[in-house]
Amino acid sequence: MNTQLLGPNEIEKAAAILRSGGLVGIPTETVYGLGANGLNPLAVQNIFQAKGRPQDNPLILHIPDALWLEDYCQEIPPLAWRLAERFWPGPLTMILRRKPVVPDAVTAGLDTVGMRCPAHAMCRAIIRAAGTPIAAPSGNTSGKPSPTTAQHMLDDMEGKIDAVLDGGSCQVGVESTIVDLTCQPPRLLRPGGVPLEELRDVLKEIELDPAVTRPMKEGETPRAPGMKYRHYAPKAPVTVVKGEPARSAQYILDHISDSYWEGVICFNEFSHWFENHPVEALGGALDSFEHARRLFRALRAMDGSGVKHIWAQCPGTGGMGLAVVNRLDKAAGFHIVEV
Ligand code: AMP
Ligand code: MG
Repeated sequence: MNTQLLGPNEIEKAAAILRSGGLVGIPTETVYGLGANGLNPLAVQNIFQAKGRPQDNPLILHIPDALWLEDYCQEIPPLAWRLAERFWPGPLTMILRRKPVVPDAVTAGLDTVGMRCPAHAMCRAIIRAAGTPIAAPSGNTSGKPSPTTAQHMLDDMEGKIDAVLDGGSCQVGVESTIVDLTCQPPRLLRPGGVPLEELRDVLKEIELDPAVTRPMKEGETPRAPGMKYRHYAPKAPVTVVKGEPARSAQYILDHISDSYWEGVICFNEFSHWFENHPVEALGGALDSFEHARRLFRALRAMDGSGVKHIWAQCPGTGGMGLAVVNRLDKAAGFHIVEV
């Protein structure tokens, strides 16, 4: 299959491919998604094929407007409308009871569905033009770092999907925050583009799913099926070093070998410490929004440089930090050093 790279003035073309059951890489503010017509089970099945995604890991249904919620969800709690008002369009996914019209292929047979209204205007325009909700997970090959540019999408999906629409670099850089509203209190299943602190402005009570901060234990059933899989991982093993920035940088300096083939992901302040190694800067030590924007690009660049081991500095958990730490932990398979 020849994968077309479409420009911003080809929204109608992307929508036509989606309407006819094809797969399109679509820009969103979080990461690029691999989209299909969310009401067409065969089209949705092809997403799992292209990504090599396990069948029991459900997708998110993307809509251009909160008013579409009622077409696909039932028993919508008042809280959902309050969250939509505050955070949509934006990087928040709500888990709600689905209506029967949502295919099993989207929800992996669950009676709930993840719903999101993206902030990327081009993304909403594609959905409107397609006239159907778009089911999409992140556009990476399953298990790999998510794509934050059209080129990353092509790197993973060239020849496997019909098209990629280039909407520029993703402004948020990590996936949406997922909140389950079908339980009491609501539960944070995945930290993401909406910081927990901001969610707490609206949700007086919210529980953190244990899988957000630690690996699943043997025999434990995850709330979000995606939680049980190794995620976001580059080819080389990653060691995450947690602690005050100057201390974690010093730890890496003390432990990195002389080999060029050990890479470092670090804060800007320390990149000159590692001149003899491939280095990717995450942004200033305290700028968690910049860390989020750059994280997946940094992991992919490490793959490109062919390193055999990656050392990564790790931010604190405030702001976007919780999402960045969660991705780093999983990229490292929870191989963590605390200093
Ligand atoms: P991705 O953004 O690539 O991780 O894919 C969508 C994410 O949404 C996955 O982590 C899924 O496990 C999660 N998800 C989608 N629908 C549901 C649902 N009904 N319940 C729990 N998690 C969901
Ligand atoms: Mg994903």
